[in-house]
Amino acid sequence: MKLTYYGTGAGEGWPGLFCNCELCKTARKLKGKNIRTRSQALINDDLLIDLTPDTYMHCLVYGLDLEKVDHLLVTHSHTDHFNPPDLQLLTEPFAHNRPNVFNIYGNDRVREKIWTGVPRIWEVESKFHFHKAEPFKSIVIKDYIVVPLLALHDRNEECLFYEITQGNKTMLYAHDTGAFPEATMDYLKANKVHLDLVSLDCTTQSSADGKNHMGLVDAVKERQRLTELGIGDDNTKWIVNHFSHNGLWLHDKMVEEAAKYGFLASYDGMEIEI
Ligand SMILES: [Zn+2]
Ligand SMILES: [Zn+2]
Ligand SMILES: [Zn+2]
Repeated sequence: MKLTYYGTGAGEGWPGLFCNCELCKTARKLKGKNIRTRSQALINDDLLIDLTPDTYMHCLVYGLDLEKVDHLLVTHSHTDHFNPPDLQLLTEPFAHNRPNVFNIYGNDRVREKIWTGVPRIWEVESKFHFHKAEPFKSIVIKDYIVVPLLALHDRNEECLFYEITQGNKTMLYAHDTGAFPEATMDYLKANKVHLDLVSLDCTTQSSADGKNHMGLVDAVKERQRLTELGIGDDNTKWIVNHFSHNGLWLHDKMVEEAAKYGFLASYDGMEIEI
């Protein structure tokens, strides 16, 4: 199973659209892995996670190909993860030769945002199917088994992250979230999940959070909790992702700090295979 990171920045992107801080100025100058667009990832070539406002840019710059993508997992409704107006482009006259229905899995707030945020929704309705994703209720998508897990993030909606299994491999893609809620830990424990890859939130990088997001120190704690329960181990690939300029570490520094704890730091376009 392959995971490709297309967007590894927090909500404002890095550099922030209107930001003039030194870190954003430096990122604009250095470019490369210091440029972090908003959250999106792809499993193999057919299971998309989040519909960021940068989706089109990911297609143009990183070769994201949506032809085979008929399934979209949405973590939550924040604008960096879900941009409903793009769904209008599923239908004629914007899209030709797209016979398959586009399946969207998300919470109630995501559903509301589709109905309020897609222009001329009545013309698009037949092109997609919304499925409510409920915590701990597994969803079968092709040969994947997907389990939505509860995140600790925006208290106004049921934020989710996803455990994805294909064959004998399982990965956890956990953004945006603070420390995992007990219900999520209980699920992982009870189901004796072994994770081959864990992608953890690291929005605040150099500082601790744990309540809505994580910093590196929080990610290290989560790994310890998972390792103590045997859910992850030395064979697990541990990755940190979703970085904000307010976290203060440009890419090279992030890589260096993450490596001290055995984590890889994501970058836009990074591919990892398990
Ligand atoms: Zn986010
Ligand atoms: Zn900035
Ligand atoms: Zn968020």
